[in-house]
Amino acid sequence: MTLNEPMSEGVPRQRILIVDDSITTIRLLADLLSDMAEVFFVTDGREALSKAEEVSPALILLDVEMPEISGYEVGRMLKQNPVTANIPFLFITARSDGEDEEKGLRLGAVDYISKPILPAVVCARVQLQLKLQYMTEQLRKANANLQQLANRDSLTDVFNRRRFMELANSSYALSRRSSTPLSLIMLDVDHFKQINDSYGHDSGDITLIELVAVCNDVLREVDVLGRIGGEEFAILLPDTEQHGAYSVAERLRKKIADISISYEDQQFGITVSMGIAELGEEGDTVHHLMKRADDALYQAKREGRNSVSVCDVEG
Ligand code: GH3
Ligand code: MG
Ligand code: MG
Ligand code: MG
Repeated sequence: MTLNEPMSEGVPRQRILIVDDSITTIRLLADLLSDMAEVFFVTDGREALSKAEEVSPALILLDVEMPEISGYEVGRMLKQNPVTANIPFLFITARSDGEDEEKGLRLGAVDYISKPILPAVVCARVQLQLKLQYMTEQLRKANANLQQLANRDSLTDVFNRRRFMELANSSYALSRRSSTPLSLIMLDVDHFKQINDSYGHDSGDITLIELVAVCNDVLREVDVLGRIGGEEFAILLPDTEQHGAYSVAERLRKKIADISISYEDQQFGITVSMGIAELGEEGDTVHHLMKRADDALYQAKREGRNSVSVCDVEG
């Protein structure tokens, strides 16, 4: 859709809020605009804020001259409230000198329409704002979608390696700044190749999804889970020393060993091995931390798998 095209079919009906102390003006505007949007109105500036919060309109039409609080003041308050700050508003007013218009636009109004109301002009300008608002919202959603694709692993929805590394670097910086501990767990599914070979690749995929569900269940909100490679995951535990990380890992290990995965008519269990390292003194880096956790993981594998190993050498 471009700005010159009519609104396409399937676009949800948007809402407009009219704020004007004159019922006659409200009626006139509502008649003009009710074909293109669902119209709400209030006659007092104070009610405008709560109504805006309640109906989340796509656009607010503000009269400037009102007895209690002026439209300018309402505009200012809308901008100050985080819930309404992004709702576009325009002024419709009998004041039409350049200074007033400049004041309105400075307050963040998207347009300034002079009275007397010329129906065709009001309709065209409101329609333009509704389209802009719709397209902005579509763009915001598309961006959020792209972010999701760029940061998350598509199979399990946990952070991908690239995003995990970014978050690891921020956790590192935070830990240094606040002098709090930071631990890392590296987790790898035992004999995963055999699961693929025995039950098929789809069963393998399901296994990874179920494994992540257990992790999300055990981990705290602040912990960061990422998929580092095929069946290898990394977990950052902020504000956690290695003995704390060890008990988290043990809880994970037991819960994972307890689950039974079913796919089609097959049922099987899995085990995982984990390596743990804690961030050491100054000079230690994220890179070294990951290397030590990785070494500990291979130690756990050597010890016979389904086990947790801690790297006790710091830095
Ligand atoms: P170990 O206990 O030593 O870790 O043995 P392993 O079999 O788990 O390790 P190996 O590295 O030999 O095999 C990993 C397997 O993981 C091989 C690969 O095909 C499989 N794999 C990697 N990514 C995926 C995935 O997304 N889905 C499925 N189903 N399998 C995957
Ligand atoms: Mg008025
Ligand atoms: Mg493995
Ligand atoms: Mg592996």
